[in-house]
Amino acid sequence: MGKKYYCDYCDKSMVATQSIIRTHIKGVVHQKLVNEHYQQYKDPETILQEESMKKPCTRFARGECQFGGICRYSHYTQEQIMNLRAYMATKSKTTDNNPPSFEDLYKKLQNDKSTISSMDDKNTMIYDENGVTHVLPWSYNHIFDAYGNNLPPSIKKFKTSDFSDAVITNWG
Ligand SMILES: [Zn+2]
Ligand SMILES: [Zn+2]
Repeated sequence: MGKKYYCDYCDKSMVATQSIIRTHIKGVVHQKLVNEHYQQYKDPETILQEESMKKPCTRFARGECQFGGICRYSHYTQEQIMNLRAYMATKSKTTDNNPPSFEDLYKKLQNDKSTISSMDDKNTMIYDENGVTHVLPWSYNHIFDAYGNNLPPSIKKFKTSDFSDAVITNWG
């Protein structure tokens, strides 16, 4: 009587020869079952990442796909993907809700203070073509710098060139 090889994934035993085992492990049925076995241990983040990279399987939608978990198209419905997204969103929210310690808050406040005041210095000064430094009596919000020229004129940072052709009229 020859030795038997038992495959846990497939719940199947076979004659334990190299070639039979190798063929079995390469087989679609075996790979499908192995994949399904590991799928249940994957975290939702991994599943979401993998599935959102695949196109939806049209055969699976018609109930005709033979490939199961090893299909290169996604067997998750739009709704399932949306549920996963919603789940991930609530998960990241709950970690955000962990209250920061008092020390953390204090450190953050000190940091913010020092960065904001140094930012203010930089943003209240402009240089004109003659190399003269002008200190403005107000500060610009440096956050707006990221928007460049898309800002409405009223919150754009002044350049001295903006005034080179200004017409100054006297009020009577
Ligand atoms: Zn197997
Ligand atoms: Zn499929």
